[in-house]
Amino acid sequence: LTDCLFCSIAAGDIPADTMSESDRVMAFRDISPQAPTHVLVIPKAHYPDIGALVATDAALVGELVRTAADVASAEGIEGGWRLLFNTGPDAGQTVFHVHAHILGGRRLGALG
Ligand code: AMP
Ligand code: ZN
Repeated sequence: LTDCLFCSIAAGDIPADTMSESDRVMAFRDISPQAPTHVLVIPKAHYPDIGALVATDAALVGELVRTAADVASAEGIEGGWRLLFNTGPDAGQTVFHVHAHILGGRRLGALG
């Protein structure tokens, strides 16, 4: 039992629109998409944010990025895509289980 939403998704206790899954990484569609393609990539293990993850398991960051690139290929978003980690309150992080957003399928605005 966990009160972390993305741990619950990783455990299969809460359903998600899953695009890919390995023993360590999962990709699923964002429930409130901000672009035609909006997919989240998470490690199954719990880390609060990307800083904590890279400090502990940098290879797992590589697996997340590889998964994101594979998802982008599968989605056919040749026009381009963005990969981002919201980190902390100023960036608008709301779920404190690290996740990469993949955004694509339309022209994206500038950051900031
Ligand atoms: P962040 O603001 O970076 O913490 O992003 C959290 C993201 O999780 C938001 O884009 C939400 O729409 C998304 N989200 C919240 N609950 C779910 C869920 N049950 N399944 C999929 N995505 C979710
Ligand atoms: Zn978690």
